[in-house]
Amino acid sequence: MADLDQGRVKAWLMEDDPAALERLWAEADAVRRARVGDEVHLRGLIEASSFCVRACHYCGLRAPARGLDRYRMTGEEILEAAREAHRLGYGSVVIQAGEDPGLDQAFIAEAVRAIKADTPLAVTLSLGERSDEELAAWKAAGADRYLLRFETGDPELYHLIHPDLPGRPSDRLAQLRRMRDMGYEIGTGVMVGIPGQTWDILAADLLRFREFDMDMLGIGPFLPSPRTPMGGPDAPSYLALRDQVPNDELTTLKAVALTRLLCPEANIPSTTALATLDHAQGRELALMRGANVVMPNVTPVGYRIRYEIYPGKACVSETAEACRGCLETRIRALGRQVGRGPGGRLRTECKD
Ligand code: SAM
Ligand code: SF4
Repeated sequence: MADLDQGRVKAWLMEDDPAALERLWAEADAVRRARVGDEVHLRGLIEASSFCVRACHYCGLRAPARGLDRYRMTGEEILEAAREAHRLGYGSVVIQAGEDPGLDQAFIAEAVRAIKADTPLAVTLSLGERSDEELAAWKAAGADRYLLRFETGDPELYHLIHPDLPGRPSDRLAQLRRMRDMGYEIGTGVMVGIPGQTWDILAADLLRFREFDMDMLGIGPFLPSPRTPMGGPDAPSYLALRDQVPNDELTTLKAVALTRLLCPEANIPSTTALATLDHAQGRELALMRGANVVMPNVTPVGYRIRYEIYPGKACVSETAEACRGCLETRIRALGRQVGRGPGGRLRTECKD
């Protein structure tokens, strides 16, 4: 496929000719197979806390959201969820949460140390915007990776959707750069169809993935939550805006496929948000169009329902064991295998 620049990425995102799209899907699948293989890596997702001090305009966990039954898991519960992930054969866990000061430096360092002492799992953290001191302490405790979606590099849209905290301006790209210097594998990503996202903005953001040579890239559709300014009764009818990217399955799949072409060796999950839009085959379609990772939930079911980023989240009531069985069947049906080991970022000699 010809060199992907801003104009070409934008044109592919807007493409609606089925024959052309078949070529995009085939190319993304071929690059995925050649560069990261047929294994699908499973990461156990532990949703450790639904408290959050931030007010991101899109997210149902935002601090001002009312009516949520918020929770914070104990250290022992986090360790037990990680043990469950290991028992199920997963190679890594992701400890994710709102930006919760209750998950403080010592608490998370201890949780990481306990998991590392007890299991061979790789540990990924996804705890929002945190200080360098915290990030360095968690790296020293054994954390391997950190996930923080920058959502958009467009300064105007970024500041609109990520209000600053007093004395703590929001700058996710800056944190990603600092974490890379600390030795973390870094993951990031964007939502597709967030209000205010134009085709040009999304194309530029996919190109940023390549520019920053990110290790993991999560791309899911924006799903409106009624607890947010973007999903409540006063939400603007943004889909009618000229140039607004739709938050649909097809556009999300195009973004996943283009991301694979731009970043051939990155780990790319088939996201829960996509499975939420299309319960029947969202997960499979992403895996057939560039993705090579799935993040099954290992959070205790009683907490999972309360981690309500958006309504109707897929797989909230299945046990971790049931999820494991279901995913293995789906992965095998695609002619692929469940990955073994931690499934870190591959780096070959070949430079794109
Ligand atoms: N607090 C951490 C952070 O912000 O990185 C981790 C938790 S946050 C809920 C994880 C991700 O959920 C965000 O990066 C965002 O992309 C996604 N998310 C939030 N609200 C969403 C929505 N309404 N639709 C789809 N995805 C959403
Ligand atoms: Fe909090 Fe993360 Fe949601 Fe922002 S995206 S409100 S930091 S949980």
